[in-house]
Amino acid sequence: MAIPNDVRGQEIGRVGRRAKYLLLPLESGALIVHLGMSGHISVVPVETPPAKHDHVDFVLDDGRTVRLTDPRRFGSVHWQPHPVADHWLLQGLGPEPLSADFNGGYLAERARGRRLAIKSLLMDARVVVGVGNIYANEALFLAGIRPRIAAGRLAAPRLEGIVGAVKATLASAIQSGGTTLRDFSGTDGRPGYFVHELAVYGRGGKPCPRCETTLKEVRLSGRATVYCPRCQR
Ligand SMILES: [Zn+2]
Repeated sequence: MAIPNDVRGQEIGRVGRRAKYLLLPLESGALIVHLGMSGHISVVPVETPPAKHDHVDFVLDDGRTVRLTDPRRFGSVHWQPHPVADHWLLQGLGPEPLSADFNGGYLAERARGRRLAIKSLLMDARVVVGVGNIYANEALFLAGIRPRIAAGRLAAPRLEGIVGAVKATLASAIQSGGTTLRDFSGTDGRPGYFVHELAVYGRGGKPCPRCETTLKEVRLSGRATVYCPRCQR
Protein backbone atom coordinates (compact mmCIF):
# COMPACT_ATOMS: atom_id res chain seq x y z
CA MET A 1 0.00 0.00 0.00
CA ALA A 2 1.28 3.46 -0.86
CA ILE A 3 2.37 5.59 2.06
CA PRO A 4 -0.49 8.07 2.70
CA ASN A 5 0.26 11.77 2.99
CA ASP A 6 -1.13 11.97 6.51
CA VAL A 7 1.86 10.08 7.93
CA ARG A 8 3.63 13.46 7.76
CA GLY A 9 3.91 14.85 11.25
CA GLN A 10 3.25 11.54 12.95
CA GLU A 11 5.58 10.48 15.71
CA ILE A 12 7.75 7.38 15.21
CA GLY A 13 7.28 4.96 18.10
CA ARG A 14 9.58 2.24 19.33
CA VAL A 15 11.18 0.56 16.32
CA GLY A 16 10.65 -3.19 16.28
CA ARG A 17 11.33 -6.23 14.16
CA ARG A 18 9.28 -9.21 13.00
CA ALA A 19 11.08 -11.95 11.04
CA LYS A 20 13.27 -10.04 8.56
CA TYR A 21 11.17 -6.88 8.59
CA LEU A 22 11.82 -3.69 10.50
CA LEU A 23 8.69 -2.08 11.87
CA LEU A 24 8.59 1.69 12.29
CA PRO A 25 5.34 2.30 14.17
CA LEU A 26 3.53 5.57 13.49
CA GLU A 27 0.26 6.75 15.03
CA SER A 28 -2.06 5.36 12.29
CA GLY A 29 -0.09 2.27 11.30
CA ALA A 30 3.47 1.23 10.56
CA LEU A 31 6.12 1.40 7.91
CA ILE A 32 7.39 -2.10 7.18
CA VAL A 33 10.95 -2.04 5.87
CA HIS A 34 12.68 -4.97 4.23
CA LEU A 35 16.40 -4.41 3.76
CA GLY A 36 16.72 -7.10 1.09
CA MET A 37 20.14 -8.67 0.55
CA SER A 38 22.37 -5.74 1.31
CA GLY A 39 20.29 -2.74 2.27
CA HIS A 40 20.92 -0.68 5.37
CA ILE A 41 19.53 2.23 7.28
CA SER A 42 21.49 5.16 8.59
CA VAL A 43 20.63 8.39 10.34
CA VAL A 44 22.39 11.35 8.74
CA PRO A 45 22.11 15.16 8.85
CA VAL A 46 19.33 16.19 6.46
CA GLU A 47 21.70 18.24 4.30
CA THR A 48 23.79 15.12 3.45
CA PRO A 49 23.36 14.70 -0.31
CA PRO A 50 21.98 11.29 -1.31
CA ALA A 51 24.50 8.92 -2.88
CA LYS A 52 23.86 6.60 -5.80
CA HIS A 53 22.17 3.80 -3.86
CA ASP A 54 20.18 5.93 -1.41
CA HIS A 55 16.51 5.45 -2.27
CA VAL A 56 14.32 6.64 0.61
CA ASP A 57 14.61 9.44 3.19
CA PHE A 58 12.33 9.87 6.20
CA VAL A 59 13.03 13.44 7.24
CA LEU A 60 12.79 13.98 10.99
CA ASP A 61 11.95 17.28 12.70
CA ASP A 62 15.35 17.50 14.41
CA GLY A 63 17.49 18.14 11.35
CA ARG A 64 18.29 14.52 10.67
CA THR A 65 16.96 12.04 8.15
CA VAL A 66 16.53 8.28 8.31
CA ARG A 67 18.05 7.09 5.05
CA LEU A 68 17.53 3.77 3.29
CA THR A 69 20.48 2.63 1.17
CA ASP A 70 20.05 -0.44 -1.00
CA PRO A 71 22.69 -1.18 -3.67
CA ARG A 72 20.94 -4.26 -5.02
CA ARG A 73 17.37 -2.94 -4.81
CA PHE A 74 15.99 -6.09 -3.25
CA GLY A 75 14.63 -4.11 -0.32
CA SER A 76 11.20 -2.52 -0.06
CA VAL A 77 9.10 -0.20 2.10
CA HIS A 78 5.42 -0.91 2.77
CA TRP A 79 2.67 0.91 4.60
CA GLN A 80 0.12 -0.89 6.76
CA PRO A 81 -2.60 0.81 8.81
CA HIS A 82 -3.50 -0.78 12.16
CA PRO A 83 -3.61 -3.68 12.79
CA VAL A 84 -0.10 -4.01 11.42
CA ALA A 85 0.02 -7.81 11.84
CA ASP A 86 -2.60 -8.04 9.06
CA HIS A 87 -0.07 -7.06 6.41
CA TRP A 88 0.41 -9.86 3.88
CA LEU A 89 4.16 -9.98 4.55
CA LEU A 90 3.54 -10.68 8.24
CA GLN A 91 0.59 -13.04 7.99
CA GLY A 92 1.13 -16.73 8.66
CA LEU A 93 4.65 -16.33 10.01
CA GLY A 94 5.81 -18.80 12.65
CA PRO A 95 7.17 -17.66 16.02
CA GLU A 96 10.49 -15.90 16.51
CA PRO A 97 13.18 -18.55 17.14
CA LEU A 98 14.46 -16.98 20.35
CA SER A 99 10.97 -16.53 21.83
CA ALA A 100 9.37 -18.91 24.34
CA ASP A 101 6.73 -19.75 21.71
CA PHE A 102 9.35 -21.73 19.83
CA ASN A 103 9.72 -24.77 22.06
CA GLY A 104 9.85 -28.55 21.86
CA GLY A 105 6.10 -29.00 22.22
CA TYR A 106 5.42 -26.51 19.46
CA LEU A 107 7.94 -28.11 17.08
CA ALA A 108 6.53 -31.58 17.81
CA GLU A 109 3.09 -30.30 16.84
CA ARG A 110 4.39 -28.89 13.56
CA ALA A 111 6.51 -31.98 12.79
CA ARG A 112 3.77 -34.53 13.46
CA GLY A 113 3.06 -36.66 10.39
CA ARG A 114 5.42 -34.63 8.19
CA ARG A 115 7.68 -36.45 5.73
CA LEU A 116 9.55 -33.24 5.01
CA ALA A 117 13.25 -33.27 5.96
CA ILE A 118 13.79 -31.72 9.38
CA LYS A 119 16.19 -29.17 7.88
CA SER A 120 13.59 -28.00 5.36
CA LEU A 121 10.97 -27.79 8.12
CA LEU A 122 13.25 -25.55 10.19
CA MET A 123 13.80 -23.27 7.21
CA ASP A 124 10.05 -22.84 6.60
CA ALA A 125 9.07 -19.36 7.87
CA ARG A 126 5.51 -20.61 8.50
CA VAL A 127 7.00 -22.96 11.12
CA VAL A 128 9.66 -20.68 12.61
CA VAL A 129 11.15 -17.48 11.18
CA GLY A 130 14.79 -16.54 10.94
CA VAL A 131 16.43 -19.95 10.48
CA GLY A 132 18.33 -19.61 7.20
CA ASN A 133 20.41 -22.27 5.49
CA ILE A 134 23.65 -21.62 7.37
CA TYR A 135 21.98 -21.71 10.78
CA ALA A 136 19.89 -24.78 9.96
CA ASN A 137 23.10 -26.64 9.04
CA GLU A 138 24.91 -25.50 12.16
CA ALA A 139 22.01 -26.18 14.53
CA LEU A 140 21.49 -29.73 13.26
CA PHE A 141 25.19 -30.46 13.70
CA LEU A 142 25.03 -29.14 17.24
CA ALA A 143 21.94 -31.28 17.92
CA GLY A 144 23.50 -34.38 16.30
CA ILE A 145 20.58 -34.82 13.89
CA ARG A 146 20.86 -35.91 10.25
CA PRO A 147 19.36 -33.07 8.12
CA ARG A 148 17.44 -35.39 5.80
CA ILE A 149 15.46 -37.26 8.48
CA ALA A 150 11.71 -36.91 8.03
CA ALA A 151 10.53 -34.40 10.63
CA GLY A 152 7.64 -36.64 11.68
CA ARG A 153 10.00 -39.48 12.61
CA LEU A 154 11.84 -37.54 15.30
CA ALA A 155 10.87 -38.27 18.89
CA ALA A 156 10.02 -35.45 21.28
CA PRO A 157 13.39 -35.33 23.11
CA ARG A 158 15.26 -35.02 19.80
CA LEU A 159 12.97 -32.18 18.68
CA GLU A 160 13.54 -30.54 22.05
CA GLY A 161 17.28 -30.84 21.40
CA ILE A 162 16.91 -29.24 17.98
CA VAL A 163 15.03 -26.27 19.45
CA GLY A 164 17.81 -25.77 22.00
CA ALA A 165 20.47 -26.02 19.28
CA VAL A 166 18.68 -23.49 17.03
CA LYS A 167 18.49 -21.01 19.92
CA ALA A 168 22.13 -21.55 20.90
CA THR A 169 23.33 -21.21 17.29
CA LEU A 170 21.41 -17.99 16.68
CA ALA A 171 22.40 -16.49 20.02
CA SER A 172 26.04 -17.22 19.28
CA ALA A 173 25.77 -15.75 15.77
CA ILE A 174 24.19 -12.56 17.12
CA GLN A 175 26.89 -12.34 19.77
CA SER A 176 29.63 -12.51 17.15
CA GLY A 177 27.97 -10.04 14.81
CA GLY A 178 26.28 -12.11 12.10
CA THR A 179 27.82 -13.82 9.10
CA THR A 180 30.20 -12.33 6.58
CA LEU A 181 28.65 -13.92 3.52
CA ARG A 182 28.16 -11.56 0.59
CA ASP A 183 28.48 -7.95 1.59
CA PHE A 184 27.06 -8.07 5.05
CA SER A 185 28.58 -5.64 7.49
CA GLY A 186 27.78 -4.66 11.04
CA THR A 187 26.55 -1.21 11.98
CA ASP A 188 30.20 -0.27 12.41
CA GLY A 189 30.85 -1.16 8.75
CA ARG A 190 33.09 -4.09 9.69
CA PRO A 191 32.25 -7.59 8.50
CA GLY A 192 30.47 -10.02 10.79
CA TYR A 193 32.56 -12.80 12.26
CA PHE A 194 30.29 -15.81 12.63
CA VAL A 195 31.73 -17.36 9.48
CA HIS A 196 34.96 -18.07 11.35
CA GLU A 197 33.08 -20.21 13.83
CA LEU A 198 31.00 -22.32 11.45
CA ALA A 199 31.39 -26.01 12.26
CA VAL A 200 29.93 -27.56 9.10
CA TYR A 201 28.55 -24.97 6.67
CA GLY A 202 30.97 -24.48 3.76
CA ARG A 203 33.19 -27.28 5.11
CA GLY A 204 32.04 -30.28 3.02
CA GLY A 205 34.97 -32.69 2.47
CA LYS A 206 36.83 -31.35 5.50
CA PRO A 207 37.16 -33.14 8.84
CA CYS A 208 34.35 -32.94 11.38
CA PRO A 209 35.47 -30.58 14.17
CA ARG A 210 34.22 -33.11 16.72
CA CYS A 211 35.31 -36.55 15.41
CA GLU A 212 37.40 -35.82 12.30
CA THR A 213 35.23 -37.95 10.03
CA THR A 214 34.99 -36.32 6.58
CA LEU A 215 31.93 -34.03 6.39
CA LYS A 216 29.44 -34.85 3.64
CA GLU A 217 27.88 -32.22 1.41
CA VAL A 218 24.57 -32.88 -0.34
CA ARG A 219 21.74 -30.74 -1.71
CA LEU A 220 18.47 -30.76 0.15
CA SER A 221 15.52 -28.74 -1.22
CA GLY A 222 18.11 -27.14 -3.48
CA ARG A 223 20.26 -25.88 -0.61
CA ALA A 224 23.81 -26.83 0.32
CA THR A 225 23.63 -29.22 3.23
CA VAL A 226 26.68 -30.36 5.18
CA TYR A 227 26.71 -32.93 7.96
CA CYS A 228 28.90 -35.41 9.77
CA PRO A 229 27.83 -38.98 8.91
CA ARG A 230 29.12 -40.13 12.30
CA CYS A 231 27.95 -37.41 14.72
CA GLN A 232 24.57 -36.80 13.10
CA ARG A 233 22.04 -39.63 13.17
ZN1 LIG B 1 31.65 -35.94 13.54
